[in-house]
Amino acid sequence: MVKNPLDNDIKYVSGVGEVRAKLLERELGVRTLRDMLYHFPFRYIDRTRIYRIADINEDSASAYVQFRAKVTGKSVSGEGRKRRFSIFVSDGSGSAELIWFQGIKWVEKRFELGREYLIFGRPSFFRGELSVIHPEVELVEKALSRREHSGLQGIYSTTERLSTALGTKGLYNIICNLWGIVQGQIHDYMPERLRVRHGLVSLEEALFNIHFPQSQERLRQAQYRLKFDELFGIQLNIQARRSARVSARDGFVFNRVGDAFNTFYNEKLPFPLTGAQKRVVKEIRRDTVSGTQMNRLLQGDVGSGKTVVALLSMLLAVDNGFQACMMAPTEILARQHFASISRMTEGVGVRVAALTGTTRAKERREVLAALERGEIDILIGTHALIEERVQFSNLGFVVIDEQHRFGVEQRSRLWTKNAQPPHILVMTATPIPRTLAMTLYGDLDVSVIDELPPGRRPIRTVHYNDSARLRLFGFLREQIRAGRQVYIVYPLIKESEKADYKNLEEGFAAIVRDFPLPEFRVSACHGKMKPADKEESMRQFKDGEADILVATSVIEVGVDVPNATVMVIESAERFGLSALHQLRGRVGRGGEQSYCVLMSSEKLSKESRTRLEAMCETTDGFRLAELDLKLRGAGDINGTLQSGAAFDLKIANPTLDNQILQLAQEAARELLDEDAALERSENRPLRELQARYSGRQDVDFSMIS
Ligand code: ADP
Ligand code: MG
Repeated sequence: MVKNPLDNDIKYVSGVGEVRAKLLERELGVRTLRDMLYHFPFRYIDRTRIYRIADINEDSASAYVQFRAKVTGKSVSGEGRKRRFSIFVSDGSGSAELIWFQGIKWVEKRFELGREYLIFGRPSFFRGELSVIHPEVELVEKALSRREHSGLQGIYSTTERLSTALGTKGLYNIICNLWGIVQGQIHDYMPERLRVRHGLVSLEEALFNIHFPQSQERLRQAQYRLKFDELFGIQLNIQARRSARVSARDGFVFNRVGDAFNTFYNEKLPFPLTGAQKRVVKEIRRDTVSGTQMNRLLQGDVGSGKTVVALLSMLLAVDNGFQACMMAPTEILARQHFASISRMTEGVGVRVAALTGTTRAKERREVLAALERGEIDILIGTHALIEERVQFSNLGFVVIDEQHRFGVEQRSRLWTKNAQPPHILVMTATPIPRTLAMTLYGDLDVSVIDELPPGRRPIRTVHYNDSARLRLFGFLREQIRAGRQVYIVYPLIKESEKADYKNLEEGFAAIVRDFPLPEFRVSACHGKMKPADKEESMRQFKDGEADILVATSVIEVGVDVPNATVMVIESAERFGLSALHQLRGRVGRGGEQSYCVLMSSEKLSKESRTRLEAMCETTDGFRLAELDLKLRGAGDINGTLQSGAAFDLKIANPTLDNQILQLAQEAARELLDEDAALERSENRPLRELQARYSGRQDVDFSMIS
């Protein structure tokens, strides 16, 4: 096969060389010509706009500006490394100082008093005076004689080291030189048919215009093509994987609904299922008789009743002679699931056991032995379940609760506990906007519980600041005297924070000791406590032996105490929207009116205020999740995806580019339907694109929440 010129080492491009090549690799991960070509500008500035100095103000700081001005003076000040060189310029409307700390000898010679230059750079202000550090400067006649195509110039993300070594225009220059080499040699892997169908410009044209836009319109076309490629590349993987899974036909078949399921459903179920719960049970039922392995993501807001759906599914497995297990992210939660599932299945004739990090050695040995002999039907636990020594006799169904707390590898380790993979149900209360779920989880089927059990009253949410504290205590008193319980949650006290406390435990102990409602029983719970102590605190609260639970956000996930009606969140501005929503979901689980009180300081950033207002306005987790993504902006979403090492998206944003995503998804599905292995000659080149996005298709949701 002919070597693709884009695979060549970047060091051979003129202006690069060994040393800079090393730097490019270290700082940007750029090794080949392709890497460099796919380092796109993150924005473009309009070089046709020329400001008057008087019109540049503090608002333009952080953007780039361009102005023309005459040199009125020069000065050198400082010694050694502190040396700086200044040029003073004026354009009649105002004056500015241009400053250099490096390359002083060179710039010193370049400027002539009285001549006019075109100056380009990032403005900064010191005592109201405009200055520009290390600007780009060119004689006006020269700059204006050079007709630049569109006036749009790309700005590349770089690092401090790189820009020091290469100068401000360094990356741009390298890409210019590189273009000379690759021009005319960029082959397009996209079949003609698809290009025409989706109105895509050629790859070469797209890459050229993304770096050197010939016009706004060409830039837009380039962006469209490159976004399409990324999303299409991902979909080629997702869809291929999905059809491989579906065609494998290797799922256990649960064709019997037997005693365990029926006894539980008819005699033990403490409430009628909601419509949404019934629908999801049916979906799971359909999957588990299909003969194909199920991979299902169950999304349901906090309190929507996912646990009972999981239990019913596990009972189905048991009825068909299989074992089931359920993995929870925390000890507390695993214990709680164990307690409630043991209680609910009493008399149903299934054997339930628990295994967590704190299970004592003797009991652990017994559980493990019984498990291998097939004497345990349902095993509930934490990460301990994925340890090597945990061997099932025939594991048929796996539930993973609160997916976002589990890493990807952990999940896949459960997969491999059998020769034949068990059915998998992943449950999450972190509502993932559909668009994102589609990109990330395209190879999972998604079920949604979009209905809360009846009789729940919407939680009332209010936002107070410190001046309302007395009122808050009065309210808490009232609630507790009426027999209710209260959560008070503090953000994690980070060790790096300047607190008056030596460490987290002490800080927390102080909060509990000085707690201003002395007449009530308080228990405490935070992440650094020993598991046994944590559990004891939780137990006290659950059993009503404590009126107030003071906690850090360890209680965020899953804890269920229906008698608790008030959730107070201290320093609420320090929590993300999704964490706030999860915390709020701890109350409102019984029939009583529940409340969520967001305490914050008076001074809030605009974004924090928006977040807290949104919490007061809606209890809809999906709306909050969408808003969260919007507030945190596109860059952050891509950042999240990347840090999850899901895909290396450079330009597309699955949320904002939703339409392209859908087109790409359809296109990939159609293509693979006809040619699953990309064997036809016109499709074969697409393997390159598919391979580029074959990375892990999963994300750790803790980064999103
Ligand atoms: P989550 O989806 O957050 O895991 P849970 O499964 O913990 O929610 O359920 C929350 C509460 O709602 C529990 O106390 C549970 O017993 C109760 N519940 C679940 N389904 C129903 C229902 N159909 N009707 C009434 N209460 C229900
Ligand atoms: Mg739950």
